[in-house]
Amino acid sequence: MKPILIIDPGHGGRDPGGGSNRFWKEKEMSLAISLYQFKRYNQLGIPVELTRSTDITLSPEARTRIVRNSGASFCHSNHINAGGGDGAEIIHSIYGGKRMAEKVAKELKASGQNIRRVFTRILPSNPRLDYYFMNRNTGNVTTAIIEYGFADSTKDDIQQLQSNWREYAEAVVRGFCLYTSHDYAPPKQRAGSGKEVLRLPATADTWRVYPLNKQPIKGNEVGFLKPAKFNGLQYQIYGNPYPHVYIIKTRDYGIVNIYASSEIGAILS
Ligand SMILES: [Zn+2]
Repeated sequence: MKPILIIDPGHGGRDPGGGSNRFWKEKEMSLAISLYQFKRYNQLGIPVELTRSTDITLSPEARTRIVRNSGASFCHSNHINAGGGDGAEIIHSIYGGKRMAEKVAKELKASGQNIRRVFTRILPSNPRLDYYFMNRNTGNVTTAIIEYGFADSTKDDIQQLQSNWREYAEAVVRGFCLYTSHDYAPPKQRAGSGKEVLRLPATADTWRVYPLNKQPIKGNEVGFLKPAKFNGLQYQIYGNPYPHVYIIKTRDYGIVNIYASSEIGAILS
């Protein structure tokens, strides 16, 4: 089915993104937000696609080509900002998308994030073109570049994004549904419906984890967690890209995929 919406997780692969700090890389936060929204739009029956679902490098040309060729009418390009401000920014094209951007901003504000600005910017060398390539080169697709907050905020964005990124991702879903007059229903449990926490039992000596850009199969592991050594381990679940495969953040290996199910001793709740 032709998607209505395509979600673009900013950056990826060799490009970590400027909106990174010691707690997260922008490419990982933007992917977690995008996978969350992808799952939610699927639940809501809105045909949706992604420009990337793993940690791969996409050139601006490849990225915008995927968007243009997707058949979608709308795009969220998800980013984390840098530069010392605080709050969310939504950037639309000089040719349109203002109303969608404002709907998204309104819902983000209602979810607790302050809005720094909703704006549009022209290319200085050619005022008929948009400054940002996701606005300039996405053809007829109405694209909102959504900056959820600042990685280097001196106010509350770092704490807010760590604690509330799901709520902000959900706010954008709600804003988009309101904008397109599509029925909206909140997630069944709290935002991030589905499994939230993964526990690895102390009875397991080792547990493989995999980089996001490789198949989560034996041989591709980036390393081993050691549940027995720590009397069991516990992780927050950021995403569920494949059946029984979860995205978690580890101390030693960063954001990784892990294969886990109750049949092999994992506890998911
Ligand atoms: Zn970015």
